[in-house]
Amino acid sequence: MRIESRYEVLFEPVRIGPVTSKNRFYQVPHCTGMGYALPRTLAAMRGMKAEGGWGVVCTEYCSIHPSSDDQPYPFASLWDDDDMGSLAAMADAVHAHDALAGIELWHGGSYVANLATRQPSLGVRSMPGRTDPIQSQRLDKRDIRRLRQWHLAAAKRARRAGFNIIYVYPTHGYLISEFLSRALNDRCDEYGGSLENRTRLLRELLSETRDAVGDRCAVAVRFSAEGHGEAHLSAEEARDVLEMLGPLPDLWDLVVADYYGEEMATSRFVKEGSLEAKVAQARALTGKPVVSVGRFTSPDTMVRQVRSGVLDLIGAARPSIADPFLPMKIREQRMEDIRECIGCNICYAYNFRGASIRCTQNPTIGEEWRRGWHPEHVPAAERRSVLIVGAGPAGLEAAHILGKRGFLVTLTDAASEPGGRVTRESRLPGLSEWARVRDYRLGQIAKLPQVSMYLESRVSAQQVREFGANHVLIATGARWRRNGIGRWHESAMAELYHTRVLTPDDLLAGARPMGDTVVFDDDHYYMGSVLSVLLAQQGSRVTYVTTEGRAASWTQYTGEQQRISEQMHELGIAIITNTSVEAFDGDSVTLACIHSGERRSQAASSLVLVTSREPEDGLYRELVGEDGENEAIECIGDCCQPALIAHAVYAGHRAARELGEPHERWRAQRDRVVV
Ligand code: ADP
Ligand code: SF4
Repeated sequence: MRIESRYEVLFEPVRIGPVTSKNRFYQVPHCTGMGYALPRTLAAMRGMKAEGGWGVVCTEYCSIHPSSDDQPYPFASLWDDDDMGSLAAMADAVHAHDALAGIELWHGGSYVANLATRQPSLGVRSMPGRTDPIQSQRLDKRDIRRLRQWHLAAAKRARRAGFNIIYVYPTHGYLISEFLSRALNDRCDEYGGSLENRTRLLRELLSETRDAVGDRCAVAVRFSAEGHGEAHLSAEEARDVLEMLGPLPDLWDLVVADYYGEEMATSRFVKEGSLEAKVAQARALTGKPVVSVGRFTSPDTMVRQVRSGVLDLIGAARPSIADPFLPMKIREQRMEDIRECIGCNICYAYNFRGASIRCTQNPTIGEEWRRGWHPEHVPAAERRSVLIVGAGPAGLEAAHILGKRGFLVTLTDAASEPGGRVTRESRLPGLSEWARVRDYRLGQIAKLPQVSMYLESRVSAQQVREFGANHVLIATGARWRRNGIGRWHESAMAELYHTRVLTPDDLLAGARPMGDTVVFDDDHYYMGSVLSVLLAQQGSRVTYVTTEGRAASWTQYTGEQQRISEQMHELGIAIITNTSVEAFDGDSVTLACIHSGERRSQAASSLVLVTSREPEDGLYRELVGEDGENEAIECIGDCCQPALIAHAVYAGHRAARELGEPHERWRAQRDRVVV
């Protein structure tokens, strides 16, 4: 197919040292929660991206030695030859589609705790790690010599495993970046002091990697273009390093110093292409191809950044997770089929829960091998009829996949607009990109004449029975509880002045509190904080109370906790932590310390309870009866299990894939070590 001339530039080959990428689409290293533990799952997932048209597909962080062990977070490893098979499987899966395979060689330095290997972690000086009360051991010169040997050995293994691009990784606070740091590096030898000395280790590793594997493999370096944060390299020093080392690697992969605040920030705080200005300055200094990220989903933004000389390669982690076929869709000018990343960071969060990757937009990611799911193909089915009640993320996903499979789908919703919680929540401050979950599915459904959608159509059990569909999926969602039940209160709060109690559903429907408002967050994800922001922005005086030690504590996994706290402080929202709300009489709330139980009163005219949700499963229960024996009826999404939007999409997808299939086809494979 002819590529529209505007986008042709994205499909030009790019020479990277001794190798050539067939186009400019470059999946930068990103964690998967799979690492060495799930090699088949990983190979199939990366292979799918190559099938979708990415010119380069990289690994996650790949440890070079047991002194860099990030357990319980899953990472890849190249500690010995036995590790090579798993990574070779990934490289092969990538090569099968004519793409290049890249590998991020990684030593975590002081950052890791080595919980599995129980070796001392190693740092430029002895420093505490990220989470555990364990400090690193200061490296001496003998250790540095060993480190260089480990890196070299890993690079050679990476080449033998088939990788085409090998990274040296002096960023994100890991070991090599400790050496660069003005604050951390207090050495008095040739590795400390002047900038030239602090970059010595990086230079040595680049040269040694190049000498050893550079005939066949490109050497890439990931580097922060605008300094490495206050304690690390200043912006001027970063520029000096780029000038000094510019020609040494074959590729510069440029990032910025503020990992959580900008580079990996959620769409709640940072929009597409935000690194542009910082990266553009740096590119001029290197003389080598540059790749960088920016949660790119718009082909026009990509073209602009290439044409204006900001980038040579379009780097992507999240957009490649949300849509492994992004390059192919641009090539085929199927822009409306792109499943755009919504910037929620659920993909990232689960690495830090020690579980394999998942995505709000793409339910198939991580399921390519285990369940044999392809993001673009679904098994065809007999043309039987399905009624879906509820057009939230679960119902929309199910309708779209069932329609693609050839079912005759009727989708109904009581509301006047589709999208359920996604439509409502995407109106909250910063969450507008979440509407992409709805819009992608509506776009797909619009192309499927066998799917009909009826809004403002609340259906009863009687109507469902009369409709007489072969299958029924109930996707009626969940409501926030009004009685305080949640993690803290296992039974309903006894003393509540109900007429002044609001739930998130009330606020999403347009209700607003009167006077001073307390928001009680016992949910701990985004809802309590974002509602506090909404109310504060609209002029309410808000006190946010949480049973956790910090606001929106679960957002530590999505990397937004700091930004959320900053935003709340800027808006003057008072934050009270480690505290529960015990009672509310319409004039004041009774607060209690979760440790001592000590109570105090705080004036409040309104109380917003963000505690937990009640499944809206009345229709389902009525249809299936007490014994639940009606195989033709299933409940999916929040009405089955209130959870993340990602769960609802996944549940809708899974139900749609499995409907009408023999049970043995559902069985998931288990990836594991078998002795
Ligand atoms: P999920 O996240 O599981 O998809 P949502 O709460 O986002 O759930 O969406 C559920 C949708 O179901 C809402 O749009 C709601 O209007 C709709 N709904 C609930 N009960 C009925 C019903 N009896 N008939 C039709 N639609 C319903
Ligand atoms: Fe994007 Fe969210 Fe999917 Fe991650 S989980 S790729 S941030 S949509």
